[in-house]
Amino acid sequence: MTSAAQWHPKPKADLTPTAPPDSQGRVLRGAAIPAATTKPSGLSGAVLTKSPLIPWSYSRLSKYERCPAQAKWSYTLKRDYVQGVAAARGSAAHSTIENFLSKKTKVLHTAVLPYQHVMEDIRRFNPEVEKEVAIDRNWQAAPWNACWGRGGIDAAYYIRKQRKAELFEWKTGKMYDDHDEQRRIYILFSAVAYPDVEETRIRSYYFDLDKMKELVVRREEMEPIRTDFNARLHIMEGDTVMAPRPGYYCSWCDFSKAKGGPCKF
Ligand code: SF4
Repeated sequence: MTSAAQWHPKPKADLTPTAPPDSQGRVLRGAAIPAATTKPSGLSGAVLTKSPLIPWSYSRLSKYERCPAQAKWSYTLKRDYVQGVAAARGSAAHSTIENFLSKKTKVLHTAVLPYQHVMEDIRRFNPEVEKEVAIDRNWQAAPWNACWGRGGIDAAYYIRKQRKAELFEWKTGKMYDDHDEQRRIYILFSAVAYPDVEETRIRSYYFDLDKMKELVVRREEMEPIRTDFNARLHIMEGDTVMAPRPGYYCSWCDFSKAKGGPCKF
């Protein structure tokens, strides 16, 4: 959650001009890029030499697919904001679970207390908490600071004998459609974290809704998921314009014209 934003160009943003986009506003990855002949006309009109969304994460892809310009500005403009109450509460809940599963404390956030028995069950397996996974373009493990894509799994453990991975996600607040997609990408990350995995199950706990969503994927079912994400990620990475895609969500976008942002919508 953001509050009133102030706008500053981020010094490391790469906004130098390059090739003109194709008819759909995209430059394909690997295509020849002619020498720049124009200067950027400002942040909103600049053509990017490389995507500011790489290394990607699921949240970057999700934001891009909703509105490319919103994603671009989120990662190229520095905003001064304070964490909202709901986000702070979610962070606090996550933090107590992390400490509980790491056996540093037995105290859980009040939002999580009804699920204490679940946490105790998970803790018996000595899970890895806040597990970071970083990959290269071939979906092989890569260093966090030199990767193509990355993400963090709230908790995970591996049952070696059965070659099964168990992943967990903690959610406060609402359930959104794109959480299904997030689960699918974490399933792919499990094959990187546990290379000989045969089956992965991910469970997302929605504490405020008292709901749990589960997805189980076998190894042979992972390739089509990877193909789908690869196609979407390559479109995102090859988009050097990242044009605004207006929709109902504009009314609460921090970059909108109404909020004094750089967008014309
Ligand atoms: S105002 Fe709308 S079109 Fe403009 S950046 Fe925000 S979401 Fe995208």
